[in-house]
Amino acid sequence: MSTLDPASRPTPTGESPLALTRRARRTYRVLHDTYPYAIAELDFTTPLELLVATVLSAQTTDVGVNKVTPALFARYPDAAAYAAADRTELEELIRPTGFYRAKTDALIKLGTALVERYDGQVPGRLKDLVTLPGVGRKTANVVLGNAFGVPGITVDTHFGRLARRLGWTAEDDPVKVEHEVGALIPRKDWTMLSHVLIYHGRRLCHARKPACGVCPVATLCPAYGEGETDPAKARRLAKFELAPGAPWPQRLGEAPSGLAARWAEEGV
Ligand code: SF4
Repeated sequence: MSTLDPASRPTPTGESPLALTRRARRTYRVLHDTYPYAIAELDFTTPLELLVATVLSAQTTDVGVNKVTPALFARYPDAAAYAAADRTELEELIRPTGFYRAKTDALIKLGTALVERYDGQVPGRLKDLVTLPGVGRKTANVVLGNAFGVPGITVDTHFGRLARRLGWTAEDDPVKVEHEVGALIPRKDWTMLSHVLIYHGRRLCHARKPACGVCPVATLCPAYGEGETDPAKARRLAKFELAPGAPWPQRLGEAPSGLAARWAEEGV
């Protein structure tokens, strides 16, 4: 990824490039402290499984994908199995994720391309990954960051929205967002940055009603006030995709968060 020099471009908020960089890094640190356990929410054990799960995650939730992948991965253990898949059987297995005909098509083509061009292995380079059928830059960065340990920024709908609300970019185009944010945050942090922004977007900074009143980065966010600022009302807006229905903060599971602790202290 090319990184634009932050010092050479005007900032969306009018603050100096240095101030923007400092604020972005501070925001990242707070979000990292809030969601230190953030990981890719798709279940996988190999690069191929993550690639397949990411293809399936289009237009649905990671929780929904995780429900179908155990049986899918058991039935199709390698790229050759997808290449030779019986279409009807594959469709039935992935049907709950929606758009199952198109996704079946994508998985069979993906398996075929991996067998024909990469000896059945998932390549570990962006320029190779994006040549695979159904694999765009977002999917490629998910796979690179999480299965290969290569830092990557994953600009999904949450990431783009938050980067704009936080005033890190004014761009809508995901590639431009990736480049502008990549210039603000050190490369080594790109994968974790993607996780924590996506976590925050799913849990508190929602598209329609962000829970600003309980947001850990409220003092660093130019969009504070776009959502509910009353803490008690804002807390009711918090959502957790991993365990729907469970009460906050138990949903955070084994990993206690600074945010939950703060809320407990404040009696929110
Ligand atoms: S203050 Fe509001 S808009 Fe800004 S990041 Fe927090 S929830 Fe989102």
